[in-house]
Amino acid sequence: MYDLEEIKKIEIEDVARKLGMKVDKGHTALCPFHADIVPSLHFNKDKQHWKCYACSKKGDQITLVKEYLGISFNAACEWIVTNEGIDCCEQKPEKTQRRSSTCEMDCDYLEWILEKPRLNEKATRFLFEERHIDPKVVECLGLTSIDNPLPCRRDGCNFYDAPSLLIPYRDIDGRLMSVQGRWLGSREEAEGRPRFRYPPGSKLGMYNMQVLRQLKDGDELWIAEGPSDCWAMLSAGHAAIAVPSATLLMEREVELLRGFQIHMVPDNDAPGRQLFAKIKELLPQTVLHELPEGVKDFGEMWKGMNESQGLVQK
Ligand SMILES: [Zn+2]
Repeated sequence: MYDLEEIKKIEIEDVARKLGMKVDKGHTALCPFHADIVPSLHFNKDKQHWKCYACSKKGDQITLVKEYLGISFNAACEWIVTNEGIDCCEQKPEKTQRRSSTCEMDCDYLEWILEKPRLNEKATRFLFEERHIDPKVVECLGLTSIDNPLPCRRDGCNFYDAPSLLIPYRDIDGRLMSVQGRWLGSREEAEGRPRFRYPPGSKLGMYNMQVLRQLKDGDELWIAEGPSDCWAMLSAGHAAIAVPSATLLMEREVELLRGFQIHMVPDNDAPGRQLFAKIKELLPQTVLHELPEGVKDFGEMWKGMNESQGLVQK
């Protein structure tokens, strides 16, 4: 059903990033399968394999997705095909149809979960005390939290661990594309569970796309590297979206940004600089803002501004 050879040609590090893992320039990452403190998981770009030198888990693109999301082999193939935009079944349209109907995200169920947002104690602390996010931003983006693991209605395996923050991703028309689960417990409590989880059938793209509907040509738009920096930018009064890593930018989505005055505050690291270079190449009007020395991202700067001054002018 899936063209495994095509799947195995995909960059293993792209797959890892798409799952929400932070891959550093030494081709390592924190292992999501044990309580990792230093990056123990190594990627081999020649073989497109990964291996954790601490817990000994290893495998290829499919096993990474399968283990990370807790889904079956077929669901992992489906996830990769959907998220990497491969069309494996070009000559077999009837199969494409069947495939998409078997692994569509359970939107009705997820919308039901998101319908009455509530923030538990950990989510409140994380968003407001630690990150100083404006409550209006949280409300507007429909963030919610769960105290108990959330089972998938279809196959009974868990979508999300708990406690987690649930972060809805919608397209420009408001259709639900994915709901990212972000672990809110400590690393020790995680006992190897991944920090980020997505329901099967997720389509990951830009975050807070709906803001584009409120803007007109020539308006300012700030680009963040993830939802939490995006919340900080919104709290600071900027219209902002978040994009995935440089390698995962979709041209179709970037096209939607062409008319705006783009501002970027890249993270103080290699992926941040890489993403800025890519955005600047696609959208030459992009204005660069550098972070102060020693500050790793916009979210940290926003936190510092709030904590040192107590009050920030908007
Ligand atoms: Zn490990």
